[in-house]
Amino acid sequence: MSAAPSNSSWPGVIRRYAEYLPVTDATPVVTLLEGNTPLVPVPQFVEAIGGKFDLFLKYEGLNPTCSFKDRGMTMAVSKAKERGAKVVVCASTGNTSASAAAYAARAGMRCVVLLPHGKIALGKMAQALMYGATTIAVEGNFDQALNIVRELGETGQVEVVNSINPFRIEGQKTAAFEICDALGDAPDFHFLPVGNAGNITAYWKGYREYQGVGKSDTLPRMCGWQAAGAAPLVDGQPVANPNTIATAIRIGNPASWTGAMDAVRESEGLIDKVTDEEILHAYKLLARTEGIFVEPACAAPLAGLIKSVERNLIPAGSLIAATMTGHGLKDPDTAIGAAGFQPTVVQPTRDAVLQVMGL
Ligand SMILES: *Cc1c(COP(=O)(O)O)cnc(C)c1O
Repeated sequence: MSAAPSNSSWPGVIRRYAEYLPVTDATPVVTLLEGNTPLVPVPQFVEAIGGKFDLFLKYEGLNPTCSFKDRGMTMAVSKAKERGAKVVVCASTGNTSASAAAYAARAGMRCVVLLPHGKIALGKMAQALMYGATTIAVEGNFDQALNIVRELGETGQVEVVNSINPFRIEGQKTAAFEICDALGDAPDFHFLPVGNAGNITAYWKGYREYQGVGKSDTLPRMCGWQAAGAAPLVDGQPVANPNTIATAIRIGNPASWTGAMDAVRESEGLIDKVTDEEILHAYKLLARTEGIFVEPACAAPLAGLIKSVERNLIPAGSLIAATMTGHGLKDPDTAIGAAGFQPTVVQPTRDAVLQVMGL
């Protein structure tokens, strides 16, 4: 018999932070050992944008299904299993479905995902299909798909694992704990992309709870960034036909509207928007200055940071954390389009290669 491997001491977010989560010894923990993601300093990016502060990126693309959604999904699926649910269902711009499908497989449950037809990044679609979810493409947008899911939930036959499920928010708040544990306190500012607004709600809850139990002294200003074509929270009203290249935040009527606005107001933060052009610029700049490849939605807060520097909103010496919510390989089409994919074709000789190299 082989011994249990001893090289993996990280137990996943539920076991690590159980005392702050609504779980008991009776909760069956469905985990892929999510969390414990790196908090990467990015001084070259800061220099490139003319900042005079320290920026750390919480690289959530390194979770098991390559987005932060795994933190909430381990909670939602564990609690669903505890209640004896057999089927989980979600509407998704892609990452929620990838995560739900993976955790459902892990739990031995059935998963049904509703996706906006034609508006989901390729990698995310591949994941839902591979994990064996029943994948339904709705001829409508995310908001319409979520409305259907709410109605399915009311039948009592399925467990909804969108962020309207409060256990999702509970799991996601652990990212704020990890940031405080790594930095020794909360940062001065926290930048993140905002779509359905569950994550900004979760981070703010996490930061306040950690301060409440004396694990951190300060609270960050929460700075949420939406895409200009899908900015209901900035514009103050739902957007009927949201549009942006950052499909993960292509949402016109956020479920956690109040949670997001409370976080911004209570933390004296801000909610603002950036154009797709600004998003694509920041997306490439991060990859090229630091070797960190994120999906386009993550570049919204980076573009927002560039804007904040231009507006002189960041005091010198500030400590800033920003969430990089998903991995760049989720959306290869946008990457290839943005990079301008043109490999130079040469004869198989050293001289031909040297010539292209300009040597
Ligand atoms: C889900 C998601 C978001 C948006 O998070 P909300 O909680 O819906 O605001 C942003 N980026 C990525 C990569 C996501 O998967």
